[in-house]
Amino acid sequence: METIPLTPFKVVVDGIKEAGGEALKFCYQCGKCDTVCPWNRVRQFFIRTLIHQGQLGLVPFESEDLWLCTTCRNCVQQCPRGVKIIDVMRAMRRILVPEGVVPASIPNLRSVMTSIASVGNPFRQEKDRAEWAEALSVKAFTEGTEFLYFPCCYPSYEPRLKKLALATAGLLQKAGVEFGLLGSKENCCGESVRAAGNEDLFKRLARENIKTFIDHGVKKILASSPHCYHTFKNDYPEFKANFEVLHITQYIYELIQEGRLEIAKEYKKKVTYHDPCYLGRHNGIYEEPREILKRIPGLQLLEMPDSKERSLCCGMGGGRIWMETAKGERFSDIRLQQALDVGAEVLVTACPYCITQFEDSKSILKECEGLEIKDITEVLQEVI
Ligand code: SF4
Ligand code: SF4
Repeated sequence: METIPLTPFKVVVDGIKEAGGEALKFCYQCGKCDTVCPWNRVRQFFIRTLIHQGQLGLVPFESEDLWLCTTCRNCVQQCPRGVKIIDVMRAMRRILVPEGVVPASIPNLRSVMTSIASVGNPFRQEKDRAEWAEALSVKAFTEGTEFLYFPCCYPSYEPRLKKLALATAGLLQKAGVEFGLLGSKENCCGESVRAAGNEDLFKRLARENIKTFIDHGVKKILASSPHCYHTFKNDYPEFKANFEVLHITQYIYELIQEGRLEIAKEYKKKVTYHDPCYLGRHNGIYEEPREILKRIPGLQLLEMPDSKERSLCCGMGGGRIWMETAKGERFSDIRLQQALDVGAEVLVTACPYCITQFEDSKSILKECEGLEIKDITEVLQEVI
């Protein structure tokens, strides 16, 4: 692999330090990160080599490797020296993106960034973000409404994922929750933009969203995507903005416990739950989704071998949702096989990115034809 200093050594090292990579210097090349990285289940990928290059101030700018990390956090959890591996990856990408150095093998990335920068979503969609909600007459958010529901770009526009947004809004309406939408007044949260190295665009999106939220009197946000949830909760406070942020699984569990959502029907199926990285490993939410599923009569919950802290990434984090993954290298193919192996009829998750990728794998893998892929809100919608 060719490695040349792309920018002066000091710029690279400062960039990595600025991203919180102080602990980088303590990496002693033990290789534990490589052992747990999901890429090594499908191809060779040595994250410790990239970390070593970071220590030397070298960026392998032509290498596709720099764009592989899905920010799943498995390695960070295992590193005995506390190296902030994701921050280092992000810092390296951050150095490359303003220089325009995105490998030709990922042509989509730049056009997605352009779309988000110009219309606030990755799909070049100029129509109202809230159009999906017309069938349910969901209100626009106005000052005094308890919750802003933020469905994420994918459920707002993508046909398969609109079902997730509709299921969520339907459940909130059944429970009598006061909520509204900001539609096209809001932008993409910017999580994947930041992970893909475009820090300037991330900051612009965050500032615009924060201004919109404050101008409309938003105090509490319900998010469907663990990526939006993570960003609002952990990244937006960098801009001195603190909203009360809940992932939809947390709030729905509360509603069930309070008796505001009653489960009326049985769901006689074998179900396995996939922990999305940004809900589980990044934010420690493992139990609420499982508790919801356990309360559904007739539902048999089965655990896959890679679950909770050891959950297998779907492959879509870190901006990978906008990059092609070669056939035979998709983590989601392995995940679907794991679901089948434990005898599941339904693979349930709580993230629009995971659903996108699982549906994609299902459409390719013949043996998975009978496996249903569902968001947890879609399962609940059938039993409430
Ligand atoms: S696990 Fe940590 S210390 Fe070990 S090689 Fe990876 S980054 Fe370095
Ligand atoms: S965050 Fe996940 S994908 Fe990225 S290097 Fe670590 S284990 Fe691999």
